[in-house]
Amino acid sequence: MKNEIYDVTIIGGGPIGLFTAFYSGMRELKTKVIEYLPQVGGKVTYFYPEKILRDIGGIPGVSGADLIKQLNAQASTFDPTMVFGERVDGLERGEDGTFILTSHNGERHYTRSVILAIGHGTLGMKKLPVDGAEHFEGGNLHYTVERVEDFRGKHVMISGGGDSAIDWANRLEPIADKVTIVHRREAFRGHESSITELNKSETHVKCSCYVSDVIGKEHIEQVVLTHIDTGEKETVSIDALLVNHGFDLDLGGIQNWGMTMNDGKVVTDAKMETSIRGVFAVGDIVTYPHRLTLIAGGLAEGPKALNSAKAFLDPDAEAMAMYSTHHKEFAEV
Ligand SMILES: Cc1cc2nc3c(=O)[nH]c(=O)nc-3n(C[C@H](O)[C@H](O)[C@H](O)COP(=O)(O)OP(=O)(O)OC[C@H]3O[C@@H](n4cnc5c(N)ncnc54)[C@H](O)[C@@H]3O)c2cc1C
Repeated sequence: MKNEIYDVTIIGGGPIGLFTAFYSGMRELKTKVIEYLPQVGGKVTYFYPEKILRDIGGIPGVSGADLIKQLNAQASTFDPTMVFGERVDGLERGEDGTFILTSHNGERHYTRSVILAIGHGTLGMKKLPVDGAEHFEGGNLHYTVERVEDFRGKHVMISGGGDSAIDWANRLEPIADKVTIVHRREAFRGHESSITELNKSETHVKCSCYVSDVIGKEHIEQVVLTHIDTGEKETVSIDALLVNHGFDLDLGGIQNWGMTMNDGKVVTDAKMETSIRGVFAVGDIVTYPHRLTLIAGGLAEGPKALNSAKAFLDPDAEAMAMYSTHHKEFAEV
């Protein structure tokens, strides 16, 4: 069973990998998904399960967690094999053309085609560059928001000046007792509407300074802020510190497969084909002119890649699947 050959192996179980797995089932292909993390959902689950997404067509508002729940349920329709906790690094080709994928732990997977849905690679949060800060992880030093309710009635300090920091300031401001956002630069870098919302809110904004120290025994009780230009220090009492300094990305061995890449992303054509025949790519890992770097942009790429994979596996196959309503899985009985 271990050496079973799959038609399609999707690397990455983020939102786009999940939808791609669904469509692979629609095309009646034997499908495996390999995900490094212990759960599905990619960046959505990792960074913003409680954020409300408003830019998915036909859904005025949905939390990240609910969107992933629905995508996972949809992907499960055709019962793909799901493998967790493995980072795929290696790619070889057997004499009969079968691809052999190797994981970081030495596991091998056999497949007739590969779809990369790896986002920006495996994910890790950029840590607060303060000595001893790791002691407070799992306490009141947060890198993600798992439950918004944990911040109710508290003084929350947010360190960061990008979209995540601004989004969380706006989301937590109505429920926290007080939100303070600290940013190294003079201006924020985020969506204009989010910055406007921030400026209108009661969030306390501290620009041109950074968190230089954290003080406390079991939990962080105070934070020392240092002004970038003057070096002046200020000590502020807080209940929780949320650090949104971005994330470290690691494409691992995949970047050495020899595919044409541009600025750390895989170049595809309009059929989602990479420069390696039989290897396709979808979602955030992909680059082509005017790509929409949103979930909405990635969702259509899954079916396109699958139709290309199907044609690669069976040149006589139909160009695309029938409408889902006509599929036997969904046909009215
Ligand atoms: C803070 C933040 C807020 C955002 N807000 C929005 C929003 O409101 N609306 C919107 O449309 N988009 C938003 N986005 C963008 C959106 O999250 C991404 O476009 C989307 O997650 C891309 O999905 P993906 O499946 O391509 O990649 P990811 O979500 O990155 O998933 C890739 C998966 O592949 C796995 N993986 C990587 N390498 C390997 C490997 N070698 N082996 C095995 N598994 C591997 C990773 O662990 C990960 O689970 C936001 C992004 C961020 C960071």
